[in-house]
Amino acid sequence: MKNISKKLRPESLMMSYGYKPELSEGAIKSPIFQTSTFVFKTAEEGKAFFEIAYGHRQKKENEELGLIYSRINNPDLEILEDRLCLWDEAEKCAVFESGMSAITTVLLEFLNPGDIVLISNPLYGGTSHFVHKILPKFNIQVEFFYHYETAQEVIHRIEQKKIKDKVALIYLETPANPTNHLFDIQMARNIADYCSTPDKKVYVTVDNTYMGPLWQHPLKLGADLVVYSATKYIGGHSDVIAGACLGSQEIINRVKYMRTFLGNMAGPWTGWLLLRSLETLKVRMETQAYNAKHVAQFLNQHPKVEKVYYLGNLTQTDGHQYIIKQKQCLSDGAMISFDVKGGEREAFLFLNHLKLIKLAVSLGSTESLAEHPYTMTHADVDVKEKIALGITEKMIRLSIGVEYYEDIIWDIEQALSVI
Ligand SMILES: *Cc1c(COP(=O)(O)O)cnc(C)c1O
Repeated sequence: MKNISKKLRPESLMMSYGYKPELSEGAIKSPIFQTSTFVFKTAEEGKAFFEIAYGHRQKKENEELGLIYSRINNPDLEILEDRLCLWDEAEKCAVFESGMSAITTVLLEFLNPGDIVLISNPLYGGTSHFVHKILPKFNIQVEFFYHYETAQEVIHRIEQKKIKDKVALIYLETPANPTNHLFDIQMARNIADYCSTPDKKVYVTVDNTYMGPLWQHPLKLGADLVVYSATKYIGGHSDVIAGACLGSQEIINRVKYMRTFLGNMAGPWTGWLLLRSLETLKVRMETQAYNAKHVAQFLNQHPKVEKVYYLGNLTQTDGHQYIIKQKQCLSDGAMISFDVKGGEREAFLFLNHLKLIKLAVSLGSTESLAEHPYTMTHADVDVKEKIALGITEKMIRLSIGVEYYEDIIWDIEQALSVI
């Protein structure tokens, strides 16, 4: 890119940053580098690339890690990683073939047998399954905390259970899915610092999928790592599964090292699709948030709706939840859950009569989606726990898309009228 002295905003750089047309016959867009391996100019060059890739020596000044093999690096992935860094102002990024592979790679890299991971509840179903069913095989245990707990309460529990020296990682999802409950990232930082010792730094990881790279920047709020399901807002078109992880150079080097050996990096075609998606990330997400505000206003006053879970509904009377929102969220987002008056029967009647909004799980895409958390995304969660978390049979979760908002509201209104 030409030398530009002005600091440009990420949305201005999404079409060009990190890509050199002169290396690709002048093509304005990055080609799909559908190749498994890369030709070295000389044996000496190949040797130097491997020394750096395997960390056998530090990079010299201005020396770049050359392309070796697409499990380690590929131009579509490198450009994508550079562009994703801009939104979160991260030093480094690693992209994966799914959100789950980003999450599990982080957990496997930063946890050892005997460790405990302190984790917010509720959790995304896949993450919940991994920490409950798979981590215990490696003798890694889980301790949960809840949105209504204070740092003092969590620390008190850690003291009582005598697990302070075992806590190795704090992991949170905020806003929580599907209730939109908020967790305080600074509070997680404080607990992590309390559990850290000079030779054990406890990292804080935030799954930022629900807010996407636009509306919440966990690294600026005290987190060490941020993970995304790029399948959601980043991809944004319901046509690709992918994930990402961002943080400091030191941390992401470790994550990439693990990724190289798990072999779960994204392929060039996935990388290229996400590059295309990133160009419209901001316009998509802003439209989605704008539409969601109107939809929430409609639901708030509807007689067949009992309760609406939407960040824009928080007020000062919500106390700490409101304070966290003011501190952490740059938007009210585009995820709305609501309880219909009734139970599963009424919720299903609504879902079965939608005409424009699709009945599907996933979120953050251009089309609006509706689902029933109790029997779908959260089917695996223990019933008692679901009820305690407020996930009941009358709850519907909406992901608002980019359609004209009056059409979305028309669809919701006609489906509610059937109940
Ligand atoms: C979808 C999702 C994931 C998993 O991502 P995949 O891309 O489906 O592997 C993780 N966390 C949250 C919050 C999600 O919504």
